[in-house]
Amino acid sequence: MKTEFSLAQLADPDIAEADKILRACVHCGFCTATCPTYVLLGDELDSPRGRIYLIKEMLEKNRPPTPEVVKHIDRCLSCLACMTTCPSGVNYMHLVDQARARIEKDYSRPLPERLLRAALAWVLPRPGPFRAGMILARLVRPLAALLPSPRTASATPTSWRRIKAMLALAPGRLPAPGPSGGSVFPAEGERRGRVALLQGCAQQVLAPRINQAAINLLTRHGTEVVLVKDEQCCGALTHHLGRDDDALARARANIAVWLAEADRGGLDAILVTTSGCGTVIKDYGFMLREDRDFAAAAAKVSALARDITEYIGGIDLRPTQQRGDVVIAYHSACSLQHGQKITQAPKELLSKNGFVVKDVPESHLCCGSAGTYNILQPDIANKLRDRKVANIAMVKPDMIAAGNIGCIVQIAGGTSVPVVHTIELLDWATGGPRPGLN
Ligand code: SF4
Ligand code: SF4
Repeated sequence: MKTEFSLAQLADPDIAEADKILRACVHCGFCTATCPTYVLLGDELDSPRGRIYLIKEMLEKNRPPTPEVVKHIDRCLSCLACMTTCPSGVNYMHLVDQARARIEKDYSRPLPERLLRAALAWVLPRPGPFRAGMILARLVRPLAALLPSPRTASATPTSWRRIKAMLALAPGRLPAPGPSGGSVFPAEGERRGRVALLQGCAQQVLAPRINQAAINLLTRHGTEVVLVKDEQCCGALTHHLGRDDDALARARANIAVWLAEADRGGLDAILVTTSGCGTVIKDYGFMLREDRDFAAAAAKVSALARDITEYIGGIDLRPTQQRGDVVIAYHSACSLQHGQKITQAPKELLSKNGFVVKDVPESHLCCGSAGTYNILQPDIANKLRDRKVANIAMVKPDMIAAGNIGCIVQIAGGTSVPVVHTIELLDWATGGPRPGLN
């Protein structure tokens, strides 16, 4: 794609990066076929190619974002299916990240939406307030029926509709909190490795059982696990809301505490059980490339970051019994398959450890979770969830496995089949408790 940035514009490293990305696009349109919003809405401007044109216009002309641009960028899930499909290697992720940051800086949203976004950006990364918010949401959920509802589903939802979606996502009950930062779990027997395990923010409130399963499995197989003190949310949630100052501050804080831990006790890896977070941590090196004080450290942290299944793939697991009678539908989280290009390892681990693993039809399509997307764009998100659940039902599973808490919550909202994390199943196969019973 031909671009017309001026030399002065190209002096800005972000614009230079956007220029490189835009020039790689040959506007072939292959990406449209796998884009969930194009598949659902059929509008070119809700396809990757359409969005690329909108972003190009906005950046090239240095124009403030128009409501039209904001509408179509907001509808993008950042699922990155387009990056998997693109034959030219267009880095849509870095382009749309830049567009979201520009929108956040230069566009004035209606006040109720600004307040809702600010509340999400403040509450979600903080486990204490998030827990309190979930309890409050559960209490006021019966009142949700009194909130005004649009007659038809809309691709531009009202604030009431978004609040209703948020209340609907609150769980019936919250589990007790898991172990706190600073905890160390020694390896059983001879120590073969030492890792930090990302505590996560929403996940540690909604499903501490996931990291517990990871700790159980790792320590059982000779890996010491550290929950690093003073670790924060990885920044993914605010990054996807375009609030880059917040996201980068969190990245810097995490880099400092993780590398201090690595200096103190050694770290073979920083393990992540939420693939949405893993994708962003692996991108810290890029996000902080212009920060003289942090660029090298950020690259080091990105190189240490591993999805839990990547690390487990290098361990000789010792299954205690075969689960050949349990059929697992493997839901490939977008952040894992498109963001990190991890597609086979989780399925191979499950089959090697005795489960019958089934691929889900249309597995490239997002389930609609996508960070805060299922709150901010609930009608599109619900359609994607229903489509995902219908596809999953076709393989008649006993359980559904996924590697991302957002997907687990989203899919569980549309099915009675237990939805569990891949690591919970692997823990079960190697001596841990059966998941999906609570
Ligand atoms: S597939 Fe890639 S090159 Fe083709 S239009 Fe989409 S982003 Fe551009
Ligand atoms: S990230 Fe997903 S929703 Fe956004 S343009 Fe790409 S395929 Fe479409």
